Amino acid sequence: MKKIGIIICDRYHTCAGGKCFRSMGAREGAFARYADEDVELVGFTTCGGCPGGNVEYAPAEMKANGAEVVHLATGLVVGYPPCPHLNCFREFIPRQFGMDVVVGTHPIPEKYNLVHEELGTWPAMTAQVDLEELLADQKTRLAYD
Ligand code: SF4
Repeated sequence: MKKIGIIICDRYHTCAGGKCFRSMGAREGAFARYADEDVELVGFTTCGGCPGGNVEYAPAEMKANGAEVVHLATGLVVGYPPCPHLNCFREFIPRQFGMDVVVGTHPIPEKYNLVHEELGTWPAMTAQVDLEELLADQKTRLAYD
């Protein structure tokens, strides 16, 4: 059983988590890595708004519930602009809490992919994100539009 927490971008603070929960159940996007494991979500919150003050605290609560991994939701990758603090979060959470970080949750929706392709966003993101996993294939991306 893999226990995880999810931190979403506060831009989407009213999000009900539809795509994240769907992809967690379907083991798509960043959840494909758990294809052969049970997954339990033990925490879900926002970063608290720029510059992400809640990242200083929320992982501790998730860890207290048994979380080993913090997923930074796909919204941090596909928002306009992508989160400028992503790399800080990736480095801070393991250092401070001893937890793994995965960038992403659900597959990138095709409508976001097309805009970022035009903007030329992806090459700069490849050092921070497993884009291959999140981009999946076009059929999957369209299913998340
Ligand atoms: S852009 Fe980053 S720091 Fe700003 S609200 Fe979104 S996740 Fe938080």
